Amino acid sequence: MSYFELPKLPYAYDALEPYIDENTVEIHYTKHHLNYLNNLNKIIEDNPLQIEGKTLEQLLKDIDSLPENLRTPIINQGGGYINHNLYWQILSPNGGGKPSGEFLQEIEATFDGYENFKTKLIDAATNVFGSGYGFLVIDNDTKSLEIMQTKNQESPISYNKTPVIIIDVWEHAYYLRYQNRRREYIESLFKIFNWDEIERIYYEAKI
Ligand code: MN
Repeated sequence: MSYFELPKLPYAYDALEPYIDENTVEIHYTKHHLNYLNNLNKIIEDNPLQIEGKTLEQLLKDIDSLPENLRTPIINQGGGYINHNLYWQILSPNGGGKPSGEFLQEIEATFDGYENFKTKLIDAATNVFGSGYGFLVIDNDTKSLEIMQTKNQESPISYNKTPVIIIDVWEHAYYLRYQNRRREYIESLFKIFNWDEIERIYYEAKI
């Protein structure tokens, strides 16, 4: 496995205003995300033989194949890196609106309508106890859509699921602007979700 890089943020730090403030985006990206990346690369540097020839997705999916002392570090640092990659990717200053096409139809069929889906995803993310994430995922076996939570930096990949939407509910993602109003932050993400990108990820995962 080679070293990872910080994906370029696809917009300026202030581009997600007023929904996510400039200061939060800059600190989240240049401190938190970068820190997970650096820690992950340090694990790779220190353990080249144990993780050679595997992608990060393979490591997270088959975490038990790793030596025991590497499992939690890969879940935390590898998950922290890959979760944040997706988080920035699915947001856009030109986002908002609704999904469309087959993706929207499947959401409506699975969750009893789009508004119900929205409420269920917002509830799931709001109700994460402590730090973690709310997700819309595709189960890799059944190929069906599901809403799930993970704790800390766990990735759905470790549960044989492919993440499609991620909602970061660590306090660093929202506390400067929203303080304890986690739900308000989560609701505001629907104004900046990049549905084109989310749909692309969905169709790729469905194959
Ligand atoms: Mn975060």
